[in-house]
Order: sequence, then structure tokens, then C-alpha cells
Amino acid sequence: MQRREFLKLLGAGTAIGAFPGAVRAASPAQGRVVVIGGGYAGATAAKYLRLWGGDDLEIILVEKNTTFISCPLSNLVLGGSKKIGDLTFNFSGLDRYRIKRLHEEVTAIDVEHREIVVGDGDKLGYDRLIIAPGIDFMWDKLPMLESAAAQEKVPHAWKAGPQTVNLRKQMEAMPNSGVFAISIPKAPYRCPPGPYERVSQVAFYLKHAKPNSRIIVLDANPEIVSKKDLFTKAWAELYPGMVDYRPNSQTVDVDVDSRSVKTEFETVKADVLNIIPQQQAGGPARMAGVANVDKRWCEVDFLSYESKVAPNVHIIGDSVSAALPKSAHMATSQAKVCASAIASLMRGVAFDPQPVFANTCYSFVSDRLAMHVANVYRYDPAKKIMVSADGGGVSDKPSEQEGNYAQYWAKNIWSDVLS
Ligand SMILES: Cc1cc2nc3c(=O)[nH]c(=O)nc-3n(C[C@H](O)[C@H](O)[C@H](O)COP(=O)(O)OP(=O)(O)OC[C@H]3O[C@@H](n4cnc5c(N)ncnc54)[C@H](O)[C@@H]3O)c2cc1C
Repeated sequence: MQRREFLKLLGAGTAIGAFPGAVRAASPAQGRVVVIGGGYAGATAAKYLRLWGGDDLEIILVEKNTTFISCPLSNLVLGGSKKIGDLTFNFSGLDRYRIKRLHEEVTAIDVEHREIVVGDGDKLGYDRLIIAPGIDFMWDKLPMLESAAAQEKVPHAWKAGPQTVNLRKQMEAMPNSGVFAISIPKAPYRCPPGPYERVSQVAFYLKHAKPNSRIIVLDANPEIVSKKDLFTKAWAELYPGMVDYRPNSQTVDVDVDSRSVKTEFETVKADVLNIIPQQQAGGPARMAGVANVDKRWCEVDFLSYESKVAPNVHIIGDSVSAALPKSAHMATSQAKVCASAIASLMRGVAFDPQPVFANTCYSFVSDRLAMHVANVYRYDPAKKIMVSADGGGVSDKPSEQEGNYAQYWAKNIWSDVLS
């Protein structure tokens, strides 16, 4: 549906070009919640708002893409055991929850007047706003990689989609005895174990297709950020001599044409170069002025995910500032706490004073072997943050059984988010 048609159908008002003021709800009994971003966090929040918020709530999801492509399992596209199509879904499963979907880009947010701007200028009003835009890259740190042409040559593939496919194609075109170099940014970044899973998947492919190749891992962190012992052992046992891991190696410069990367200590030239840039809250969070921690991440009240600096604005998912992993599982957990709190707020009743949730991250080290790390988090009323609680743990070793669990984890979360 075209944007103008969509906005007209919302009831009162019309596009800003024709009338001053934003399109407002036609007085639904409980008001209107607009959700920006239909990824793991936003789509989940929209669905659970309907389930817990009742029929009278008007829920509008504004997502710029028309398909949902999952980052979880996208490293397996590089290893060759998945295709990007296996990870691509549409949003129609949300229609049964009477969520009004607008596939447009949000370009501005006015928190004072409770309006968002969609596309080239149409405004949409809200009673409460959920911002779930994932991450954006900090191109000011590596400006030479900002253009589409540069990313064609040196992809990040840290938002699953065409860049994932491009990176795989580059690996297929790589000579045997070639060098694949990957640069990992300083934490916090999206998916703590993700870069190391990627190294494992690249090694899995190269071991079989180009066994004389090497992988150079330039990690800005002092050590492997997640599941360190498990990854170290898996690389030594499954891919002996292939993975050259270099800690404290922050990328400071990239020569795109020659695929060379410079750290403080050395310059590495690669046949395939994968730079994962530093990250920050997604654009809409910064537009709304709610990325108040180092102008990078968003500080929230962990009982409702309401911003600490803008009332009626809630932020969930990777954009949140927290000592919590930036994961899809975490994004859906936060979304449910937020949806439950907003449903209560809209009805004027108290919300859960002590939420508890869990997070599990699986990592594949081959096409079938996987391992996990799991944690339980509980709200601490004194510290006013989520803290680790009893429960969870880490695998002893990768196994096929965990590989099966990981595949089912993905099926479950896709079904929870999108149907
Ligand atoms: C390679 C890789 C592997 C991963 N593996 C796992 C895993 O195994 N398990 C796990 O739990 N997590 C994993 N993750 C992490 C996970 O993908 C993220 O933590 C999760 O996607 C965060 O959800 P989100 O909703 O915050 O962001 P996203 O899922 O990125 O959703 C944000 C949405 O907002 C939309 N958006 C942004 N700006 C605008 C705008 N201006 N207007 C309209 N829409 C907008 C985007 O199009 C996007 O759809 C992995 C990540 C990567 C990169």
C-alpha cells in the first residue's frame, strides 16, 4: 500500500503536505502505539502489544524493508550450509494481530510533539513510541568504507542480506593459498560471539574448498569476547594451522582498492577482506535524541524500556545501553517486557516490578557442530538494572545435538517474532 493511502486509511487527517499537523488516531479507546523497526525487537513488541494490550489499541509498525532477513544463522551462508533464502521471511504473519504495517523509512522524530516523519515528509502522531532500529555503523571512524562501492569490495555483512551473499561469492573466487582477513571492533557490538562464529564458518568452507588458505583475525579486543576457550579449542582441533588470531588489533585505516587493512602495529593485505565497523544505536534513536550514552547508546528504565530522556518513547533491542548481550534473543525478551509495560501503562495499571528473562546464543563451528552460552537476568530494584541470576551456563564442547538445538532455536524465534 502506498504511504499516502495508508495514512488516509488511518482515519483522521491526511498527509502533512495537504494539511498541517500529523495524522492522528481516530480516537481509538486506548490510543496509538507506533513501532519503528520490524526486526527481532520491533516485530515482537508489536505482536505482544496486541496479545496483551487488547483489541482497542492501534498498533502501527513502520519498517523500511519489505522482507525480514535473519542475522542469526547468516554466518552459515558463508560456510555454505544455508542459503540467504532460508533466512528470508515476509511480515504477513503479523497481519492476524491487526498490526498496520507501513514499509517506509522514518526520517525524523519530534518527541515534543509526539510525531514521526515518514519518507519525504508525511507525519504520523503517536501516544507512545517504540524505537527498535538495531544498529548503525560509525562510518566517521572508517570513512573510506562508507560508500556502497567501497562496501561492494570490502563488505561488513553485519546486517544479513546482499552483503552476506557478496562475501560468500568473494570467498568462492578466492585463490587456494589465499588470505581471508576479518577485523572485529571493540565491544560492545551486535552479537558478541558472532565474529568468532564467522571465523569458524569461513574456516569450514576454506578447509574443504581451498585448504592452503589462511584466516587472519584482527581483533580490537584484548581477547575473544565470548566462548573464548570453546572457540580456541574448536579452531585448533577442526582447522589446525588455519586461524591466525591477533588480539589488540584495532583497524585504523583501510585501502579498499588493494584490500589492505592497517592496525596500530601492521598492515595486512588480503584476498578477501571483511571489516566489521564499530556500531551505535540505529538512526531513529539518534534522530529522537535518545542515544544519550556517549551519543551512542540509549539509556532506559529496565522496567518499561522507556527512555531516560524522552517521555513516552521506549527503546528496545541492540540500541539499548546495558551490560546485556546485543542478541536477537535479548531483543525479543526486552520487547516482551516493554510490550507488557506499555499495555499496563495504556490501561493505567501497575506493571511488573521485577522482570526476569533469559538469553541463549548458539554458535556453529562447522555445518553441524554448535555450542551455546546461556544466562538468566533478573531486575535488581536497588541497582535498577538487569543483573545475572542463577541459571544458564556454557557448553562443554561443540556437538551435533547442540547443532540440532540451534536449528530449532532459530525456528522457534522466527515463529515467535513473525507468526
Ligand atoms: C552475523 C550475525 C549473527 C548473529 N547471530 C545471532 C544468534 O545466533 N543469536 C542471537 O540471538 N543473535 C544473533 N545476532 C544478533 C542479532 O541479529 C541482533 O542482536 C538482533 O537483530 C537485534 O534486533 P533489533 O530488533 O534490535 O535489530 P534488527 O533485527 O536489526 O531490526 C532493526 C530493524 O529496524 C529497521 N530500521 C532501522 N532504521 C529504520 C528507519 N529509519 N525506518 C524504518 N525502519 C528502520 C531495520 O530495517 C531493521 O529491520 C547475530 C548478528 C549477526 C550480525
